[in-house]
Amino acid sequence: MDTITKTVPEYFGANVFDDMTMRSRLPKETYKAMTRTIKYGRSLDITVANVVANAMKDWAMERGATHFTHWFQPMTGITAEKHDSFISPDDTGRVIMEFSGKELVQGEPDASSFPSGGLRATFEARGYTAWDPTSYAFVKDGVLCIPTAFCSFAGDALDKKTPLLRSMEALNRQAMRIVKLFGYTDVTSVKTTVGPEQEYFLVDREFYNKRPDLIFTGRTLFGSRAPKGQELDDHYFGAIKPRVAAFMKELDEELWRLGVYAKTEHNEAAPAQHELAPIFTTTNIAADHNQLTMELMQKLAKKHGMVCLLHEKPFAGVAGSGKHNNWSMSTNTGINLLNPGETPYENALFLLCLCAVIKAIDEYQDILRVSVASAGNDHRLGAAEAPPAIISMFLGDELTAILSALEKETSYSAQEKSLMRVGVHVLPKFPRDTTDRNRTSPFAFTGNKFEFRMVGSSESISDCNTVINTAVAESLCIFADELEHAENFETALHDLIVKTIRNHKRIIFNGNGYDESWVREAEKRGLLNLRSTPEAIPCWIKEKNIELFRKHKVFTEREIRARYEIQLETYVKVLNIEALTMVDMVHKDILPAVSAYGRELGDTIIKKKQAIGALACVYETETLTTLSALTDSIYHGVRALELAITEAKSNKDSFARAKAFETEVLPKMKAIRACVDHAECITGAKAWPYPTYSELLFGVR
Ligand code: ADP
Ligand code: MG
Repeated sequence: MDTITKTVPEYFGANVFDDMTMRSRLPKETYKAMTRTIKYGRSLDITVANVVANAMKDWAMERGATHFTHWFQPMTGITAEKHDSFISPDDTGRVIMEFSGKELVQGEPDASSFPSGGLRATFEARGYTAWDPTSYAFVKDGVLCIPTAFCSFAGDALDKKTPLLRSMEALNRQAMRIVKLFGYTDVTSVKTTVGPEQEYFLVDREFYNKRPDLIFTGRTLFGSRAPKGQELDDHYFGAIKPRVAAFMKELDEELWRLGVYAKTEHNEAAPAQHELAPIFTTTNIAADHNQLTMELMQKLAKKHGMVCLLHEKPFAGVAGSGKHNNWSMSTNTGINLLNPGETPYENALFLLCLCAVIKAIDEYQDILRVSVASAGNDHRLGAAEAPPAIISMFLGDELTAILSALEKETSYSAQEKSLMRVGVHVLPKFPRDTTDRNRTSPFAFTGNKFEFRMVGSSESISDCNTVINTAVAESLCIFADELEHAENFETALHDLIVKTIRNHKRIIFNGNGYDESWVREAEKRGLLNLRSTPEAIPCWIKEKNIELFRKHKVFTEREIRARYEIQLETYVKVLNIEALTMVDMVHKDILPAVSAYGRELGDTIIKKKQAIGALACVYETETLTTLSALTDSIYHGVRALELAITEAKSNKDSFARAKAFETEVLPKMKAIRACVDHAECITGAKAWPYPTYSELLFGVR
């Protein structure tokens, strides 16, 4: 029937129960009640919920759905779903399809195995999921998915979404005070917006299936470098291979059906590395969409005979993968608060909001760093291809000069004679392009938004946005406290901006973040350099951070301590799996393979000597000698690693355990890898048990 292909606008959002669908499917009064719930967070009457649920079910069934699920984001960082069918027995022994308002609004998955950091004692092991009506329901693989938050019955957040929603609320409360001060009486809400750019690798499935390290840990624990890496920059933005192009096309189409604004697809710096960037949207929706994107990438890659690697550092020696979290704040009337604007008045609001972000990032750099700390991201942050582990902000030369003129009470340029005054002068135009191109900065102003580049490719963006929103809410709160009581608003505003620049300018750095000298300079400025996850995590429980989250009702102290424990535990679990995988690969495959290859060399030496008399057999003898020494080192290395794992695990305290894995286990893994990679280089290709870096990185043709 469908001979005419549908255009994108025709099928965009086809699998989403969005505003248009609700408008056409719900009775007028119900639709109005729904809109109020979505816009103002009003709770939904159960009779209204029943009507919505029924309409949703009919709509979903037309799209082939037989089940529904409360789709949520537990603290594992990925999404969870438990499917329930719509069936309900009728009097005749047959079934009817039913979906009630109660089932829509609240669910009780028996999800007691998710990490809770001790928040759920066994007697109250159940948690419940609650509908987040601001993120639309959708149909995926025959299941109606209802985006939800996940809490314990005691009210503790057990997921990543609840704190994110709370932080958006906190920012809304404080930003509204500021917007009011500037006389925007028509504004009823301020929301944060995010556009997360997602990097990933694609490798051939056949090769992947032969690598236990990729299967169990998502990264290669061994592998000597391919002769070619990314030095020619010929992959970056290069022509996309047909197989990858077919994957990207299907990915875009599937995402569009799910209402995700997938916008650009291109090759990234490393061979086999790619990126997808969506158009920005409201933060909680962006977080949901990013989860969906990652899930679909993995599913569709398989369909195309490939595997999508979302790990931060799947391969040594080439770039790792991150997520660029583009962040801003917007009013419901469409004003982007980080847009400099054209008039002195707009400029003033912009400068104040800019200062709010500067103050927030300077004061809460520690907890922002924690929000992206993971075993995977540790391989990336600080390496010479990702932002350094030191948090600083890039503003560009022009904007920095403007702030400096304000701070020093001088004129902005030689031509401009008068002193810069907030609210009086129009900001000189700074070309957007020059603000954008410092790729080494972890937190860069890019014209009308900030781009936070430290997020790991596999991480949920909920964590860092919860921190950014709350920290900025705190700055805005302090600003509003001061300005609301000012005798002269304009003078107070000017002074506040100048004071903030003075107190927080140490966080601004426009230079090369990869440069060694920056590490020393940052130290002089008192900026933190938290190199690893165990080094960063204790910042979670600093008094000032607990106070921040408590004040803005984003986390209770209990919730923070739970997250602190979970993050440490996760770190230990990841390293433990990696170390055990390494031990296994060495014992089962690597040592036997190298040993067998050595025997072959030995046999050759004997036979050659028999055949042609006393010859040195330099190649065979030297290779055999080196391999023999290497296998011994590998063997001893693995014995030492096994001991280190046991010892690290025996620490009772979770922080000590994590620290032991970092300082005792990881270095031993590195040492073993060096020997194995050396052995790989001199072992015949046929004898090596695993696909090589060349095959993994250049294998998709
Ligand atoms: P690039 O960084 O590649 O030059 P853009 O600057 O146009 O590209 O956009 C990068 C990302 O930032 C996109 O996901 C875009 O939608 C997002 N973005 C643009 N404006 C905003 C905003 N106001 N808030 C959040 N994200 C935004
Ligand atoms: Mg960008």
